[in-house]
Amino acid sequence: MPYDVVIVGGGPAGLSAALALGRARKRVLLCDAGPRRNAAAEHLHNFVTRDGTPPREFREIGHRQLAEYSSVEVRDVRVEAITGTRGAFQVKLKTNTVEARRVLLCTGMIDEMLGLDGFRELWGHSIFQCPYCHGWEVRDRKWGYLARGVESLHFPLQLRGWTRDVVVFTGAAFDVPEPMRARFGEMGIRLETRPVARLVAHENRLESIELSDGTTIPCEVLFAHPPQRQVDLVRALGVGLDEEGYVRVDPMTRETSVPGIYAGGDLQTRMQGAIIAAASSVQAAAMLNHELTVELATAEVAGGRE
Ligand SMILES: Cc1cc2nc3c(=O)[nH]c(=O)nc-3n(C[C@H](O)[C@H](O)[C@H](O)COP(=O)(O)OP(=O)(O)OC[C@H]3O[C@@H](n4cnc5c(N)ncnc54)[C@H](O)[C@@H]3O)c2cc1C
Repeated sequence: MPYDVVIVGGGPAGLSAALALGRARKRVLLCDAGPRRNAAAEHLHNFVTRDGTPPREFREIGHRQLAEYSSVEVRDVRVEAITGTRGAFQVKLKTNTVEARRVLLCTGMIDEMLGLDGFRELWGHSIFQCPYCHGWEVRDRKWGYLARGVESLHFPLQLRGWTRDVVVFTGAAFDVPEPMRARFGEMGIRLETRPVARLVAHENRLESIELSDGTTIPCEVLFAHPPQRQVDLVRALGVGLDEEGYVRVDPMTRETSVPGIYAGGDLQTRMQGAIIAAASSVQAAAMLNHELTVELATAEVAGGRE
């Protein structure tokens, strides 16, 4: 008997979709191989009712709530490959192969750590990607933004809402257009264009940024957007990606370019956050449920007529 849906990935997106499908009485297998994107973070914020919850606890609560729904199975297992077509997928797990009518990808994105000395260790502790997630706790402190291109220069404007002390570091990687320099000046945002040599930290807390000429700029919190990539499974599936590398989905159904394979969560948008990931995957779950219910009920009635 095939699963109605195999969900790949058990972060906020996968857990939320499993809940919606379980409540809709669909037979679901949720496979998760960890680690999640926010594994380095101490607390999850900006998710109403869960503000300040450690990521591990968020997952445990999710598993406890899913245990109430007998048609949902949760396994700590990696999905290695997916073959077959809509209605009859073979999902190869590390341990065995299962059949599924549909697949929902909730595999998140991989953040590629920058080569800058100390970046990996400070990620999630003093280096963050989102001020809504971690800005409040460090408001009014000395903040920096590591800009990677001209297109990223609008991002630090909003940081001024959390602190008056914002420095934008370009690392001499690109030229800053004059209108943007003027805007930074008007808002009291400082611009530092010299190359960055290293991050200076004490006990996993950032203290300053050292430039290539030896100057140190005090900085306690750094925002950055390292490059992201899809996990190997998604790349191997050959689903269509947009120009930034996110999975293209139909805005309503959340189906990818491969019929029968859907996607929800970080992997299909640069607008990333736990509650946003949960919302998009619940939308996918609702669309999947609608489609499967029509299909299964029609087959049931036709079977009864024979
Ligand atoms: C440091 C940091 C801190 C953050 N803090 C916050 C915050 O405070 N608030 C907030 O709203 N957002 C925060 N975010 C963003 C948030 O973590 C993501 O938006 C959210 O986790 C996305 O959920 P997701 O389910 O799409 O992906 P993920 O949470 O990344 O989950 C994807 C899961 O899929 C699994 N997986 C991948 N491939 C396979 C496979 N082949 N087989 C089985 N499993 C697989 C992964 O191991 C992972 O467990 C933070 C992000 C970072 C990097």
